[in-house]
Amino acid sequence: MDVLVAKFGGSSLSGASQFEKVANIVRADERRRYIVPSAPGKRYSSDTKVTDLLYQCYHLASGGTFPKEEFAQICDRYREIIHGLDLDLSLEDEFQVIENHLKTCPDEAYLASRGEYLNGRILADLLHFPFLDAAEVICFNKRLSFDAHRTQDVLSARLKTMEHAVIPGFYGADPDGRICTFSRGGSDITGSIVARAADAALYENFTDVSGFLMADPRIVDHPKVISTITYHELRELSYMGAGVLHQDAIFPVRESGIPINIKNTNDPEARGTMIVPVAPPDPGRIITGIAGHNGFSFITIEKEMMNNELGFGRRVLTVLEDNGISFEHLPSGIDTMSVVVASAFIGEKKQTIIHEICDAVNPDHISIEDGFSLIAVVGRGMIRTQGTASRIFDAVARSGINVHLIDQGSSELNIIIGVKDEDFESAVRVIYDAFND
Ligand code: ASP
Repeated sequence: MDVLVAKFGGSSLSGASQFEKVANIVRADERRRYIVPSAPGKRYSSDTKVTDLLYQCYHLASGGTFPKEEFAQICDRYREIIHGLDLDLSLEDEFQVIENHLKTCPDEAYLASRGEYLNGRILADLLHFPFLDAAEVICFNKRLSFDAHRTQDVLSARLKTMEHAVIPGFYGADPDGRICTFSRGGSDITGSIVARAADAALYENFTDVSGFLMADPRIVDHPKVISTITYHELRELSYMGAGVLHQDAIFPVRESGIPINIKNTNDPEARGTMIVPVAPPDPGRIITGIAGHNGFSFITIEKEMMNNELGFGRRVLTVLEDNGISFEHLPSGIDTMSVVVASAFIGEKKQTIIHEICDAVNPDHISIEDGFSLIAVVGRGMIRTQGTASRIFDAVARSGINVHLIDQGSSELNIIIGVKDEDFESAVRVIYDAFND
């Protein structure tokens, strides 16, 4: 029988009634054998996530103040869940351990991980599944980075001995047993790691939306849901930043070709979005998604006979590298070179960068202009389809928007355009409309 790994996000486990939904989903399919929970998320928009409360506790405790109120809020949230589910479980001893820790040697990662740990204990009790502490099976190395090889060995061996398990997301431990966490939203990564180790047929990622949308709903009215997207397309759309799936969650399952299904805990019948290794284009869908954001700067460098000057590009990029700046795109002409970078990286360093580039390549002209947005139009349906670019540019031009940058990836899977910030939202809307009439 196939194995499914299901990860449930914070909003899916924010209170007792959400836990009930999760239990119903797990019980509805006996292939759902390994379950990865997040910490309790927000119950309403002004609520605070337990993980955020834990970070607050850490900051107060490390400054020498015991976080009485915050810690009480955390314990109460778990007590309420246990009470609401009518479980015969007490976490009071666990709360005591955490309280003692806060009073003695507050450690940020350890405290942050307790949100998932405690939620995992409750979910395991509710489902009657064994609890498997992530600290035993999700391995980090001494430099505190994730050790994929060791984890795969340890975790897959362990899962072979367990028919079911609840494994809390977001954390693991180094060889000395010291707790380490992934970056925020990292339970998605744990789910993917577990799916790989269990050789799952599918990694189900349950959240509070019915999949990825073709465009940001704050910009486009009721955008369509993406039914199928490839790993590669998703990477190209990573500008989406929509917070649906942690970017790094793709890598573990991608290696074994396990598909990910983004599903909605509040609407489990909805198909959601399938993320797959390869897929034929959906009939009639040239574009899979449109994503973008603002906050980019264009560094434009001009120099006559630039194309003959060996090492010109390398010297410019070395200046950026030395200043800790990574670049997004590198459009160039015969005597011009532009480097697109996130404005946040440039910050105060603008004049330094201009001086250092002048010293390195002695250009005829150099400028750094802020206030640009990048928009990625992505779709496997674009490959070898004629007329996509003209449709995009036609739509943008007809609405009077000036395009400052065009970049088509060599995979023919994406077209990136750069516009001024004030044109960003209208550009996304007209491009969406051009492919969805
Ligand atoms: N609880 C962690 C966070 O809020 C990890 C997660 O939810 O995936 O970032």
